[in-house]
Amino acid sequence: MTVHRTGVLIIGTGFSGLGMAIELRKRGREDFLVLEKAEEVGGTWRENTYPGCACDVPSHLYSLSGEPNPYWSKMWSGQPEILAYLRSLADKYELRRSIRFCSTCSGGYWDESRARWHVTTAEGDEYIAQFLVSGVGALHIPNVPTLPGIETFTGSAFHSARWDHDVDLTGKRVAVIGTGASAVQFVPEIAERVAQLQLYQRTPAWVLPRRNFSLPKTVQQAFARVPLLRRAVRGAVYWSAEGLAIGLNGHSALLRPVEHVGRRFIRREISDPELRAKLTPSYRIGCKRILGSNTYYRALNSPRTEVITDGIAEVRAGSMVDNNGVEREVDVIVYATGFRVTDGFDSLNLAGLGGRKLVSHWKEHGIATHLGITAAGFPNAFFLLGPNTGLGHNSVVFMIEQQIKYVLRALDLIEHRAADAIDVREPVQHRFNAEIQRKLRGGVWSTGGCTSWYLDSTGVNRTVWPGFTWQYWLRTRTLDPTEYELLQAKENVSV
Ligand code: NAP
Repeated sequence: MTVHRTGVLIIGTGFSGLGMAIELRKRGREDFLVLEKAEEVGGTWRENTYPGCACDVPSHLYSLSGEPNPYWSKMWSGQPEILAYLRSLADKYELRRSIRFCSTCSGGYWDESRARWHVTTAEGDEYIAQFLVSGVGALHIPNVPTLPGIETFTGSAFHSARWDHDVDLTGKRVAVIGTGASAVQFVPEIAERVAQLQLYQRTPAWVLPRRNFSLPKTVQQAFARVPLLRRAVRGAVYWSAEGLAIGLNGHSALLRPVEHVGRRFIRREISDPELRAKLTPSYRIGCKRILGSNTYYRALNSPRTEVITDGIAEVRAGSMVDNNGVEREVDVIVYATGFRVTDGFDSLNLAGLGGRKLVSHWKEHGIATHLGITAAGFPNAFFLLGPNTGLGHNSVVFMIEQQIKYVLRALDLIEHRAADAIDVREPVQHRFNAEIQRKLRGGVWSTGGCTSWYLDSTGVNRTVWPGFTWQYWLRTRTLDPTEYELLQAKENVSV
């Protein structure tokens, strides 16, 4: 086992991990390392390569504020362009020399006497660091349901986040399971080339019309020459998205006009009354992620597409049987069934003060952090896009940036106070969680009449930030030292 020592150990190279590393480098810090399980940077934008994969937040907002890209080719850019953006940042800040590729964090523990994190990797290395920053996010463990009889299936089967590009779907009978954010993007892309598309829908999504448009070279050049113009677009996108937060957080009647747009869209696009009924959600819009596509319903209109709402009873060697006993021949199964969100942090396998295990502690007492960033009993560990900092209405990159700044404030505090570590006080964390859970009770995710991955198995929302994102900015723009206990190492440590 090789032992490496560093100041800050970052895990992951998505927007969070790279964003953190960039800010450290900008401050002239060299004492950081980044662990990346794959051979390339990019996080979710490296993993998801399904046809049509794109971001449903406009690119001028879904990018780091300090690293604007005037040259986005579309309003909503595709995965290759977002991945290229992240790779360009890794190159610009020479981050690759600080990244340990093919290094999968398999566990870590806090050494109280030396005030250091000890992190091991599946590849057999050990990293000792004063600070640990998780940039692993929540949407990275594919949720693959165990379908009865799936082991007998002789065709190909894969998850949307592990798209098998070796499988040519042309002329195939393809079963897609799930109708969430990923399916809405790839279904229109494959519908034209498959022989049959069998779309297994458990709950219809609210889908709003959205025409993606190219940003011509002249506009890109104008953005490059006049940064104020680009900032104005970013600001306009940001504030119009913020408007939705009012409806999502306790004023859901305000969402009715948006539902009206969704229903009118179904009526306009779908002529078959039976299909219309299947596609019309019966829950309040916003309860699940709101989707936007001008091509999804059109793809469902195709005579080659069938929307199946009778569930899946059984998979056989070359077919699937629904709960009505109807058997359909299938060559390929694509799971568009999302991610195991609550298991997102399991892979870190962290043990804090007194050997407290993060995941089992959260399972027993419920997921709780302060500001979604720090967790009592886990000194000097910081979570980017931690619990209750996800969004249903705006760009999570905005949240990540506030969290990175907060981590930097924590690092400064420790330095100025000549401490070795900080640990958030339990009552502070408790107060924060009580407050956001109280706010979330009135939120559309709990009152809207749907179930979603935003809620845990007991119906508690552990995922979404309740309110405006500027309120989160306000809450994180200072770090109140009284909320933290300052800790000293009991033994002298040099690094
Ligand atoms: P998702 O939104 O969680 O959708 C999963 C779909 O699979 C749902 O329709 C769900 O039905 C269905 N499903 C799950 N388990 C099933 C089962 N056992 N049997 C039948 N159906 C099942 O997953 P996703 O589409 O991969 O998206 C996940 C998240 O990733 C999104 O919410 C979003 O945050 C992010 N994402 C973002 C973008 C973007 O453009 N920014 C794009 C893609 C994904 P129910 O609704 O009934 O549970």
